[in-house]
Amino acid sequence: MSDVYAEPATGAHPTDPATLAPYTTLRLGGAANRLETATSAEEIVRKVQEAESRDEPVLVLAGGSNVVIGDQGFAGTVVLIRSRGFRVVAEDADTVTVRVEAGEPWDDLVAATVERGWSGLECLSGVPGSAGATPIQNVGAYGQEVAETIVGVEAYDRTHGTVVRIDAADCGFAYRGSIFKYSDRWVVLTVDFRLARSPLSGPVRYAELARALGVEVGDRVPLADARATVLRLRAGKGMVLDADDPDTWSVGSFFTNPVLEREAYELLRERAADLGEPPAWPGAGDVVKVSAAWLIDKAGFGKGYAGPEGVAISSKHTLALTNRSGTARTAALVALAREIRDGVHDRFGVTLHPEPVLINCII
Ligand SMILES: Cc1cc2nc3c(=O)[nH]c(=O)nc-3n(C[C@H](O)[C@H](O)[C@H](O)COP(=O)(O)OP(=O)(O)OC[C@H]3O[C@@H](n4cnc5c(N)ncnc54)[C@H](O)[C@@H]3O)c2cc1C
Repeated sequence: MSDVYAEPATGAHPTDPATLAPYTTLRLGGAANRLETATSAEEIVRKVQEAESRDEPVLVLAGGSNVVIGDQGFAGTVVLIRSRGFRVVAEDADTVTVRVEAGEPWDDLVAATVERGWSGLECLSGVPGSAGATPIQNVGAYGQEVAETIVGVEAYDRTHGTVVRIDAADCGFAYRGSIFKYSDRWVVLTVDFRLARSPLSGPVRYAELARALGVEVGDRVPLADARATVLRLRAGKGMVLDADDPDTWSVGSFFTNPVLEREAYELLRERAADLGEPPAWPGAGDVVKVSAAWLIDKAGFGKGYAGPEGVAISSKHTLALTNRSGTARTAALVALAREIRDGVHDRFGVTLHPEPVLINCII
């Protein structure tokens, strides 16, 4: 079993109804009725089918880095995804297509592609969790999204009891979303990524990354430079997991950047007139994406802002809510998230939406 996933250092056998907290990066969540570990695609399907035959709800959990699990836990079977590895399934002069097992630790995969001179994932260095979870919310960072390189996924369709291939065009990829998010119909078994054979990154799109690399937006840089710089920037924001740093005991960004219709955006600008121009990026159509971190900060919730039981906004990043004490209940984190969401709404009239998947808890 990989040691890159949060696993209890001591304690229960995997099938014991252990608390789920140690399996999540927030270290939050009550017990499950049953915990099963699956180390291959076949075993994932079998464990899910076995739980279904017992008429139990199923929760698929991999790195636990994008879930908030309620204090009452999960009244069913949790299947821990621990399949590993990747292999080349197609190649030509310019590209290589790799098929990755769902449980492969994401950053191990990124490191391996960078080493081999396969371009397309380098800006997603340091994102925690598993490869199989990346299609769920179309993982993105520093100007790259997995939707740009995924060509398809193989998934177990729980509705029909069959294993199917789903082309990228049918995955419904959107900003931090896909058909898989908030649906328990699909269990991703493998993901195919088509990557360019190139020692250089894709064009750097993110201004902060370009600045840190000393290049212009649109330039390409050696893959290893892109990876190293992204990792450095992320570490500075508490966005690389570190067991010794409570600032990283989070789910990364807790809220998505709100996407506003033009009218709502103009209203926000009016309400924020005393604060200067809200950072914003034009979206597809007449919509504008605004910075959730800016809204939170300007509504009075700065870095380090503390809630009950030792939960707090990270001291390195306004968007990360952390279980700093390591001993809080989910209820405390939820209380902090609500306070922030309501405070931002009162100040700016904009509603923030959580990015992680909420399991048996509501914000
Ligand atoms: C410090 C930190 C930084 C982060 N930075 C980023 C970032 O930059 N960009 C970004 O997009 N995200 C980021 N995240 C969020 C998270 O790392 C990603 O969403 C990651 O892909 C989640 O992977 P996981 O294996 O931990 O998923 P889990 O948390 O285990 O699961 C998340 C959801 O996916 C479902 N799921 C997991 N595996 C499967 C599967 N095989 N089939 C079907 N459903 C599945 C689960 O049921 C759950 O609903 C960050 C998180 C942390 C803690």
